Amino acid sequence: MKIVIVGAGVAGCIVARALAARPGVEVTCLERVAASDHSESGTGLNVGPNAVKALAAHDRRLGEAVLARSFPWKSWRVSLTDGTVLFDLPLARVADNDGIRIRWSELYAALRGEAAGLIRYGAQVVRIAYAEAGRLCIEYDEHGARRRLDGVDLLVAADGRYSVTREQLAGAPQMRQHGVAIYRLLVPDTAGGLIDDYEQWFNGPNRLLAFRVPGDAIYVAGTFPIAPGAEIAEDARRAPFLRALYTPAHGAPSPQCRWLIDTICANVGSIHWARLQESPPLYRDARGRVLFLGDASHGMVPTLGQGATQAVEDACVAADLLVKHHRAGALDSDAVPALLEEFERLRAARVRFVMDFSREASDTLMAGADPVAGTRRKLEAPFQAQLARLYRDITTV
Ligand SMILES: Cc1cc2nc3c(=O)[nH]c(=O)nc-3n(C[C@H](O)[C@H](O)[C@H](O)COP(=O)(O)OP(=O)(O)OC[C@H]3O[C@@H](n4cnc5c(N)ncnc54)[C@H](O)[C@@H]3O)c2cc1C
Repeated sequence: MKIVIVGAGVAGCIVARALAARPGVEVTCLERVAASDHSESGTGLNVGPNAVKALAAHDRRLGEAVLARSFPWKSWRVSLTDGTVLFDLPLARVADNDGIRIRWSELYAALRGEAAGLIRYGAQVVRIAYAEAGRLCIEYDEHGARRRLDGVDLLVAADGRYSVTREQLAGAPQMRQHGVAIYRLLVPDTAGGLIDDYEQWFNGPNRLLAFRVPGDAIYVAGTFPIAPGAEIAEDARRAPFLRALYTPAHGAPSPQCRWLIDTICANVGSIHWARLQESPPLYRDARGRVLFLGDASHGMVPTLGQGATQAVEDACVAADLLVKHHRAGALDSDAVPALLEEFERLRAARVRFVMDFSREASDTLMAGADPVAGTRRKLEAPFQAQLARLYRDITTV
């Protein structure tokens, strides 16, 4: 049984580690970046309690390796930029365990470290096709040379949001734009204790978000509405525009927001820009030998911090399923299409729920939104019940 994983990101590493050293299974994980990439820069992530729960159930040691590089995410507070608190939720009310706050580079380091030996770095997949025998042929560039792998029984596409695998086997997904600019920044912690656990601040629909991560750093993100489908204007990427977005019309920003606004304006050159967008989910290709995981399967809006979180959930389910079939002596080439169908049956409703809920929770970010009324609705029972479902109801195999 020959398995190739494209991408040693969040999902790819988890699956690679689970398949290591299984008799009769030959696994290769191809990763385009060099082993040293992602080690110094990047941004921060808040990873949901549901991912922590899924990882602990799937592979306790791997879960501990990730926790060791993170801070716990225990609460979610929402205020106005003048300091008026609207919402202050201990996650223990809606989750069985904490989430985490981590640098992206550290999450990759933990996951890649635990899958070491299986990952071929500097190997960029460029072409995937079915050969006549019904198996896959994969071509990749490695150190300037074109190489190929033939007779592949299962391809795990974990190559992220701009997945070449998905583009070649199913066509590039149609992105749905929601009319919100989003930016992210990782800065040294000079806040003097003002910023710690996960918080958000609104001025109209313009939102700031920040939390502290290990390594004396603070992760800062901001959003503001733009016309749906429009590019983010050059002027909107500059300090005066950004300062005005978050400065309250009456009164001064709170000390937290003053520090955030000054820090963003002093670091505009280091900002990572994106737009709020999502793509329709796809779990397998039509011929049933390609399994899509994480962002390659479903790009979702980042409002509830579920991108990496769902990549972890996907990978734990895929890995548990593959291992279950292997233990039963049923992991062979002929079984692959049915196995991928089983994966889709297990995951589709959960992913649909998370995507829909993430979009609904973005209401306060849209043009014309009232963040006070929108945030107060999030304190009511229906939203809290959805949050509990999000953080507690992981998929099990
Ligand atoms: C700035 C930023 C902040 C974010 N914040 C959060 C957050 O707070 N919480 C959260 O849950 N999510 C967050 N996300 C989303 C999250 O990072 C992604 O959803 C997650 O990384 C998806 O995991 P993945 O395994 O699908 O893909 P990735 O982690 O993106 O991994 C894909 C891997 O495939 C490799 N690759 C790509 N193409 C090829 C190829 N052709 N050949 C070989 N290798 C290839 C890439 O180099 C990469 O290593 C954030 C994203 C960004 C950009």
